[in-house]
Amino acid sequence: MKVLKFGGSSVASSENINKVINIVKKSSLKNEIAVVVSALGGITDLLLEAGDLACNSDVNYKKNLKTIEERHLKVARELIAVNNQSSVLGTIKNKLNKLESTLEGVFLINELSAKTSDKIVSFGELLSSYIISEALINRDLDAVLKNTQELIVTDESFSNAAVKVDKTNVLIESFFKVNKHKIVVLPGFVALTEKGEVSTLGRGGSDYTAAIIAAATNASILEIWTDVSGMYTANPKFVQQAFPIKNISYQEAMELSHFGAKVLYSPTIQPVLEKEIPIVIKNTFDANAAGTLITAKSSNSNPIKGISHIENMTLLTLEGSGMVGIPGFSNRLFGALSQEKINVSLITQASSEHSICIAINSTDTEKAKLAIDDEFNYEIEQHKVDPLIVEKNNAIIALVGDNMKSHQGISGKMFSTLGKNNVNIRAIAQGASEKNISAVIAHKDIKKALNTLHSEFFEDQTKQLNLFIVGVGNVGGKLLQQIKNQQQYLIDNLKLQVRVIALTNSKKMLFNEDGIDLDNWKSPLEKADNLDMNLFHQKVTALNYRNSIFVDNTANESVSNLYARLFKGKCGSCYLQ
Ligand code: ADP
Ligand code: ASP
Ligand code: MG
Repeated sequence: MKVLKFGGSSVASSENINKVINIVKKSSLKNEIAVVVSALGGITDLLLEAGDLACNSDVNYKKNLKTIEERHLKVARELIAVNNQSSVLGTIKNKLNKLESTLEGVFLINELSAKTSDKIVSFGELLSSYIISEALINRDLDAVLKNTQELIVTDESFSNAAVKVDKTNVLIESFFKVNKHKIVVLPGFVALTEKGEVSTLGRGGSDYTAAIIAAATNASILEIWTDVSGMYTANPKFVQQAFPIKNISYQEAMELSHFGAKVLYSPTIQPVLEKEIPIVIKNTFDANAAGTLITAKSSNSNPIKGISHIENMTLLTLEGSGMVGIPGFSNRLFGALSQEKINVSLITQASSEHSICIAINSTDTEKAKLAIDDEFNYEIEQHKVDPLIVEKNNAIIALVGDNMKSHQGISGKMFSTLGKNNVNIRAIAQGASEKNISAVIAHKDIKKALNTLHSEFFEDQTKQLNLFIVGVGNVGGKLLQQIKNQQQYLIDNLKLQVRVIALTNSKKMLFNEDGIDLDNWKSPLEKADNLDMNLFHQKVTALNYRNSIFVDNTANESVSNLYARLFKGKCGSCYLQ
């Protein structure tokens, strides 16, 4: 048997679901398959928001409900033949009525527990799986819907429940033993507690549902179908040059996803790892692309497989001269955090034990500050420990690879690359297993850090030259033309990538961190922000790019007045021409 999981964007519209149906049809010609589906893209967020609005007595929850209703009915109408539609639309409306009653209840009592929130959010997957199973049946495919809530049993940690593996495996095995259908469609993400209350497996949890089913059925492969062609060397939304990793080990995939590569929900690996069931990540919108194969050992010998990052991190530092030798200090610190169910993403402690630094998700900041200051209240009063230092707006960036341990100098290269590009490193952690090296940096530096590390570790050593060009008249226009004509030659022959980051005329200024398209700059420049040389200077300084060149094509004094500031400012490697 094969298990195929389709994510939110793969099932976001009837057009996309038709692509899913083609993939399922082809796969089912040769295999029995289980198809795990997410909610229609964006629906989970709408449901969660509806719950919050209702809880805050905001009638706007009804708008969300309306959008949710319209999207599902539209998709069903477009996928199901007219003469079969009425019963399907009736069932959808019935489910939506139940959702509406739950939201009304929340609105009336102004209370939303994690348990009720799970009940609300579960409708996303319950609706999508129902519609997709009906669409498959409508195409005369031998499909059946099975509600995963009858198969996956969890504890009561609502919104992020832990699966009771043994009970779950028995239920899954016995269902598939008697199942006679070629295709079984199942909602991802949702489950029930032992008491029969609705629970969910955490955001992105449909991947995990699919892995649980793959492990329990000894599937030959777990296919995760999404909107990108595999696990990339870095998040492709941030790094244009990132490319799909052909083959990666379970451990590496787990590290990358743990540090933010959300293309795979990190708990997904664990169920399939023991049975060595391969995972392949494929693109629903480019089904022929190879994707990424995840297996026990990767055939790729590059010591570094990818770079990932987590946004919205808060750095907490607890320090004080009296901390040295306080018995059970770490125990108390982590105990206080675990009591509040706060997840710690990174820990560093100086050997002097004088300070300890941890990174947590920003949403937990206030809770953590209260819990820790409360725990060390006595020591703080005695001035043995300082009140917790809280720094928001940070991010973690991590370099991942199984073979890093057998290669010297990787961390040195990582930190010097970041340093040379003016990315300040606030904390560093490297596990003893050396499968990852992670660093805490400022949130504003994420894109720069990812791109410079990617260029250092994954791209042939093409250097980047960043141009800030003021004036695009006769001289400036000709210069742009020449740069455009030379760009490819310079990359091919001198390994020099010349990017124009900013352009101004006498009225407007245009910035593009990825480089302005020199085939099409006139109209974007017309629509850009009004020219303000002070703001221009601030932006150049904030970008802080290495290898920056400021080009003045004007005879304007207000521009030449900027020269001294550019030289003096933080933009240390900025040249004038
Ligand atoms: P789905 O809805 O199919 O589960 P997700 O949105 O959860 O899809 O995951 C796919 C997204 O993960 C991509 O669109 C991409 O933005 C993001 N992503 C982050 N890091 C990576 C990475 N290293 N490789 C590929 N995608 C990544
Ligand atoms: N629909 C859920 C979410 O958006 C689960 C999933 O898509 O994996 O988090
Ligand atoms: Mg996902």
